[in-house]
Amino acid sequence: MKKRKLVKCIGLLLLLATATIHLKAQPYVFYKKNKATVLTLDSGIVKKESFPVSEKEKHTIRVNFPGNDSWNFSVKLKQILRDSTQTKSADTILFLSDMEGEFALLRQLLINNRVIDENYNWTFGNGELVICGDLFDRGLAVTEQLWLLYKLESEAADKGGSVHVLIGNHEVMNLSGDLRYVQPAYFDQAKLLDKDYSQLFDQDTELGQWLRSKNIIEKIGPFLCMHGGISKEVLNRKLSLESINDLVRPWYSEWKSDLPGYLSDFFNTNSPFWYRGYFDNPTGQEKLIVATLSRYGAEKIIVGHTIRNIVASYYGGKVWDINTDWHAGNAEGLLVEGNSFFRVDQNGQKTQIQ
Ligand code: ZN
Repeated sequence: MKKRKLVKCIGLLLLLATATIHLKAQPYVFYKKNKATVLTLDSGIVKKESFPVSEKEKHTIRVNFPGNDSWNFSVKLKQILRDSTQTKSADTILFLSDMEGEFALLRQLLINNRVIDENYNWTFGNGELVICGDLFDRGLAVTEQLWLLYKLESEAADKGGSVHVLIGNHEVMNLSGDLRYVQPAYFDQAKLLDKDYSQLFDQDTELGQWLRSKNIIEKIGPFLCMHGGISKEVLNRKLSLESINDLVRPWYSEWKSDLPGYLSDFFNTNSPFWYRGYFDNPTGQEKLIVATLSRYGAEKIIVGHTIRNIVASYYGGKVWDINTDWHAGNAEGLLVEGNSFFRVDQNGQKTQIQ
C-alpha cells in the first residue's frame, strides 16, 4: 500500500514537472505609456524587465530553448516600419508559407537551404525570403517563429537581402480574437503572465505592432504574393495593390461581424488571405487569373493556404501553391534562382521543377 502510494506520488511529481517545463514562454514586450516591459516565463516562473520606450532600440531580448541552448538567439528591438507593397525582386527568392508554429522545421529548412547558418546569421546574401502567411496556430512554437523572422528582417537588410512577412488568415484570426486553432498551452502561458491570450499580440505589444505593419498582398518583381488568392469580387473592385493593403491593414484586430460592409470581401472567403477558388472551384479561374496578372502587371501568383503534397504550379505555371503539410514533417518551399524554379525541403533536397 505504502509502495503504491509512493509510486502514485512520484507519478504526480513527474506530471507536475513535465507540465512546468511546458510552461515556458518566449519574451513578450508590452508597452504602457512610456514604459516597456518584457515578460518571459521560465519553468513556470515569470521574469520581468522594464525600460523606457525611448531606449527600445538599445534593447536586446533573448529567445531561449530550455535543454537545447545551442538554439537560443538574441533579437535587437527596432523601429517598426511599414513594408512596401511593390519591390523589385532579387535573383534568388525563397517562398515559404503555412509553417504554423513548426519552428524546428523552419530552422532546419533555412539552415539546409543556406538562408541562415546554425547561429541564425543571414547567409542568403541579397536573396529574399518571402513568407506567404500563417505563422500562427496548431504548432507549439509560434512566438519563436515570429521573433526569428523579426530578427532576420533587420539582419537581411543589413546584408542587402530582405524578408517579407505577409498576413494570412491565421494571423487575422489571432489578432481579431478568433482563437479556435490556438494550442491550449498558449492560454496557460498567458494566464501565468497574468494576461489574456489576446493581450500577447495586441496593439500595445512589440510583436502585435510588427504584425499590424504587415501587408496582405505584395508584388515582388514579377511575383504577386499573398496567402489565398484574388477572387473576382476583389478584382472587380479595381483597386491598386497599395489601396488593398491600406484598406485592410487598419482592421486586422476587428471581430468580423463588427467590420463595415464595404470591407466584407476583404475579410470573408473572397479575401486575398482566405480565397481557395484556384483549387476548390477551378471553373472560370483561368480567365480570372489572366485578368489578375494583367491588372497588376505580374507574371505569376504565389499562394499558400490550400494544402498540397508538394510545391507545384497550376494553370500553366501562372499560379504556384507552396503550402505543404509542415505538421506531418513535410516542409517544402519554392526556390527561384533566375529563371529556374526548385522545390526545396527541410533536408536541403532541391528538385528542379521548371
Ligand atoms: Zn491559411
